[in-house]
Amino acid sequence: MMEPHYFAFSTEWRDGQRLCRACGNTYDGGGHIESNVLKPYTKYVCSAAQPDTMGHSAVWSGSRTTPELRSEKDAFCVCGAPYVEQDKETWRLSWEMIGPFDSAWHPVEKVASRHETHGQHAGLLELIEQGEQIRNVRLVQLQISEVTQ
Ligand SMILES: [Zn+2]
Ligand SMILES: [Zn+2]
Repeated sequence: MMEPHYFAFSTEWRDGQRLCRACGNTYDGGGHIESNVLKPYTKYVCSAAQPDTMGHSAVWSGSRTTPELRSEKDAFCVCGAPYVEQDKETWRLSWEMIGPFDSAWHPVEKVASRHETHGQHAGLLELIEQGEQIRNVRLVQLQISEVTQ
């Protein structure tokens, strides 16, 4: 038997079980190290940037019931930076900007996680520095209390 190793994805199957490219065994039959780089049911976002910006990704880990499909690469965004767990904080980012259909100031508001709003906040300040028509940028943490009865 081979040294313990991570299951290597392949398109080979035996009796309905996917086989490891490195050792030719099924997941259960081959001394595979379980990859647990992501916790189940958790949203992960890129640590380097906004998940909705070009060239970056975010992932919902889901139930992760198929160990053969997990890999150490799961912990990284497509840009190569490690994922971070999305925080559960809620922040409101608001600002005013000109346009896009007229030359009046329009209020814009976004409620999202700390990671997302802080990243966008930094982006807005950068745009202001570059001379974009943006003003009154405000970032406030919201206290959301759950009502149960
Ligand atoms: Zn193997
Ligand atoms: Zn990224």
